[in-house]
Amino acid sequence: MNFQFYMPTRVLSGADCIKNNSARLKELGTKAFIMSGKSSAANNGSLHDMCEALKAEGMEWCHYNEVKPNPSLEDVRSAAEQANKCEADFIVALGGGSAMDAAKAVAVLAAEPVSNEALLGQRTFNKVLPLAVVPTTSGTGSEVTPYSILTNNAMETKSFLNSEQVFPKLAFLDGRYTLELPRDITNATVIDALSHSAEAYLAVRATPPAQALALESLRLIGSVLPSLANPEPLSVEQRDTLLYASMLAGIVIAQSGTTAVHAMGYSLTYFKGLDHGVANGLLMTEYFRFIEKARPEEVGKIREALGFASLDDFGALVETLLGTFTLSKEEVTKFAGIAVKAGNILNTNPQPTEEDLYGMLSNCFLGE
Ligand code: NAP
Ligand code: FE
Repeated sequence: MNFQFYMPTRVLSGADCIKNNSARLKELGTKAFIMSGKSSAANNGSLHDMCEALKAEGMEWCHYNEVKPNPSLEDVRSAAEQANKCEADFIVALGGGSAMDAAKAVAVLAAEPVSNEALLGQRTFNKVLPLAVVPTTSGTGSEVTPYSILTNNAMETKSFLNSEQVFPKLAFLDGRYTLELPRDITNATVIDALSHSAEAYLAVRATPPAQALALESLRLIGSVLPSLANPEPLSVEQRDTLLYASMLAGIVIAQSGTTAVHAMGYSLTYFKGLDHGVANGLLMTEYFRFIEKARPEEVGKIREALGFASLDDFGALVETLLGTFTLSKEEVTKFAGIAVKAGNILNTNPQPTEEDLYGMLSNCFLGE
């Protein structure tokens, strides 16, 4: 069996995992630059727990709470300046993919002010500050990936930083921080995790261990999906399950990457403001139908792991969770043209042509 498997992040999971493992933070440095969005970290307890843990270890920190959803290259440069002003020697991220991805870029830029060209793509840097993360959405899996996805306004899309050096050193997984995550963000982020496992399972770069983890993550997500369609709050066990499943999905994309769904989804986020997970979810069923023509058994395994009798049933549930969206014919043409140039198209098996992408986007968004 030919494969590689590399996952250098120490994952610390469970209630009070930050408090119980505060000594681990000391291994990273002496002064933390804590990055979060405006309010969620303060409201969900992760900021309090992190500050208490740093205090218990006699460490210092600065708090930067200006991370916006879908952070841009300009945003992370400005945050890196603040990290330098603070004289921080390690970075902590509290939040979803936006906080974690911004923190990865800051871990590079605060150590070495490289150009955008030298930052993006597959890279090795002279120095990167160590990073600890606390995911508070159950979606991106960024806590265990070497990727940072940044809005690139010059290119009118999202661009990747991909470096083994930005794998977080520590990831603290405590499902209680996700208890108050609003249902729309929960649904969108769960569907993002689902897309990671499903796409990576079918990817050109799929490997046996990553596929095994992908199926387990899909099984766990499938066990909670029906509950997302009713308004009852999720239990802490369900929240823990989703956080664990999205981490597994992160490990899976760290090994195998994403494919055409993410490639098409970026334009929907960049040009139409659709949330990343919603964009992926709206495309997912059509993507399965496209791949199914060539690989029915593998798509069947994903469907079974998720617990659906048919792709129609899966599509109906996703529509209940995420709604529908329409695009103009011009937009579909433009987005197919952008997607076909994305690197993750090469990771899609079978590889779609621009016409195929146009077909998938039309079926999703042009209606009758
Ligand atoms: P997000 O953009 O990080 O957060 C969305 C919203 O959720 C924010 O308004 C945030 O509020 C709020 N929020 C976060 N945690 C919360 C909680 N526990 N309770 C209540 N509200 C909470 O969402 P995301 O979907 O996790 O991340 C999306 C980003 O990740 C995109 O940029 C996407 O491209 C990227 N991504 C990265 C990878 C990777 O491997 N690196 C993979 C897939 C996607 P605050 O602003 O107040 O915090
Ligand atoms: Fe994603």
